[in-house]
Amino acid sequence: MCPMGGLLPQSFLPRALICNCLLIETSSGLVLVDTGIGIRDMADPKRLGLMHFFLGLDLKVESTAARQVERLGFSISDVRHIIPTHLDLDHAGGLSDFPTAEVHILELEKAAALAPRTFRQRERYRSSHWSHSPQWQTYDADAGETWNGFHRVRELRGLPPEILLVSLPGHTPGHAGVVVSTGLEDSGWLLHAGDAYYDRRAMDKNAVTTPGMRIFERLAHEQFSRALETRERLRRLRLDHSQIRSICAHDAGERLC
Ligand SMILES: [Zn+2]
Repeated sequence: MCPMGGLLPQSFLPRALICNCLLIETSSGLVLVDTGIGIRDMADPKRLGLMHFFLGLDLKVESTAARQVERLGFSISDVRHIIPTHLDLDHAGGLSDFPTAEVHILELEKAAALAPRTFRQRERYRSSHWSHSPQWQTYDADAGETWNGFHRVRELRGLPPEILLVSLPGHTPGHAGVVVSTGLEDSGWLLHAGDAYYDRRAMDKNAVTTPGMRIFERLAHEQFSRALETRERLRRLRLDHSQIRSICAHDAGERLC
């Protein structure tokens, strides 16, 4: 994505953003964390409503998660489970490209997305992304265990215990991250943090941020102060635990591997 055609100052938002999707091979089939922009959205970006004017999408169908999964030698039906960090249009656009997958989500997020109440929610969530009636697996946002200072962390039905859903509140009503234990001593835990932060520098010791980024975050986060608390907790997690690595959804310069 190239928001506003790259005309925004770099201090406001990076000129180019990606949609980071994480594909995990498990004994229960492939698990996809986030789906990015979907094939149908690429063909008809007006499906994305007013946001498509802002996003400046690079409309290449070969960039979609579905096409990338196929290029790895898998078929679409090999993706048995999808864990969207939330249901914003740039995370849920590919849901219908994997129609047989179970979709694991906090109940709060599903309820907000399927019955949006505000103008902002009506624009960020697109009903066309779940018009194929996915097999939802929903979870109570208030239940779960504690994991490294995070509360409401839980295993997911039908998935190995090495994959956990962790509530990361603030961005949307039921925003969550996904933690994966690699079982490897040197790489430890991977965390996909969704839109809990946008710029990897915000995770630095000095917590670098810019006034422009602050303005953007105020527009994007439904609960700004809770989102800042979540971001700070993530920063402390990364500083205190070198074996835990994280990526956010949109920073093109941040890599797990
Ligand atoms: Zn996003």
